[in-house]
Amino acid sequence: MKKVVKFGGSSLAGAKQFEKAGEIICSDKDRRYVIPSAPGKRDDKDNKVTDLLYKAYALAEEDKDFSEVFSEIEERYNSIIMGLGLEIRLDKEFSEIKENFKNKKGRDYAASRGEYLNGMLLADYLKFTFVDAAEVIFFTEEGVFDSQKTYKVMHDRLENIEYAVVPGFYGSNPDGSIRTFSRGGSDVTGSIVARSVKADVYENWTDVSGFFVADPRIIVDPENIEMITYTELRELAYMGASVLHEDAIFPVRREGIPINIRNTNKPEDKGSWIVQSTGQKSRFTITGIAGKKGFCSVNIEKDKMNSEVGFGRKVLQAFEDNEISFEHMPSGIDTMTIIVHQDEFIEKEQSVVSEINRLTHPDSIDIEADLALIAVVGRGMKSSKGTSGRIFSALAHANVNVKMIDQGSSELNIIIGVKNEDFENAIRAIYNIFVVAQL
Ligand code: ASP
Repeated sequence: MKKVVKFGGSSLAGAKQFEKAGEIICSDKDRRYVIPSAPGKRDDKDNKVTDLLYKAYALAEEDKDFSEVFSEIEERYNSIIMGLGLEIRLDKEFSEIKENFKNKKGRDYAASRGEYLNGMLLADYLKFTFVDAAEVIFFTEEGVFDSQKTYKVMHDRLENIEYAVVPGFYGSNPDGSIRTFSRGGSDVTGSIVARSVKADVYENWTDVSGFFVADPRIIVDPENIEMITYTELRELAYMGASVLHEDAIFPVRREGIPINIRNTNKPEDKGSWIVQSTGQKSRFTITGIAGKKGFCSVNIEKDKMNSEVGFGRKVLQAFEDNEISFEHMPSGIDTMTIIVHQDEFIEKEQSVVSEINRLTHPDSIDIEADLALIAVVGRGMKSSKGTSGRIFSALAHANVNVKMIDQGSSELNIIIGVKNEDFENAIRAIYNIFVVAQL
């Protein structure tokens, strides 16, 4: 067995967390490739090293003194070194990085040093080989991840190394300069390493025991999702559920490598499994609920719209010309509704409306703002009857007015539109009917 394990910032925030991670890694000899993030927050008032690096570099770019912020960064690493009683010293690296900051080596270079230094410490602590991500992860001239080159070079490099640490979050451009993924990108690095070495599993260690069925800020102590498919996760993540970087599933998905989300502070918890497909029934009819506020609906009415060839295309043309993407498009015989993000739409509202008028001559256009969308997602819905009926009776009982319904053709999700102010209530009602009632 070959396991790739990624540890997030909070899992490596200080010496104590390093010890926990070390214990987890050493308790299983299959945990061979380790991807660290930069040290995260030790408590609510603390700073993430990555944020400090961005801050220091912003000062350096303006030729301002960044030494105070930089000493805070040095202090974070030195306290890990002292706390673990390591012999390694990073003074040479610190001076080199400071010099490079003064020479304005780039914002991405600056941010990447958080993972780079943490990787050095972790490799030293575990007695694993340190492999600089800049030598095995590549981007193209256009700044796009170069998968072909990366998988080949990484595979060849790691093939002969039994135990290695590869820092997360960055790689290199064709000219050798450093480029990072977007924030939270160490998840992506972990997935790329897992794919390159054809791992049996990609373990992603963080500070929660996996995914919750619903947002814990709305539902107190929600149930955990034991198993979720990549597709279900995409639906939930799109609607705001976040534990994993959204690009992290693509490299492993192609190879069918499962991801196991685990909790560094509770290693005995099984966490959540993200898999390609499964015959295992989910515990509840639904796998998860997620949602977002801040949508607008544009309702267009015109008699005999249904028989007018090209009507829909013209309406969508008005949105496209104004560079607005739409989320959903429920329609009736003489009505059509386009759901869009409010903040994107609001400033172009009048321009869109006048173009719809010009292109389609509708009877009326009516805009409703402050809507929320809720996605009820679950592979189990396909084979169970009455799911939507139960959702709507639960919402009716909770006194929530349903503004829109859209069931995806895969029968994997049902999207419900409600007023922003009904959002939390609606989620509680759906959670209660599918989860609490089934416990
Ligand atoms: N350290 C980087 C960040 O804070 C990347 C990561 O942690 O995955 O975004």
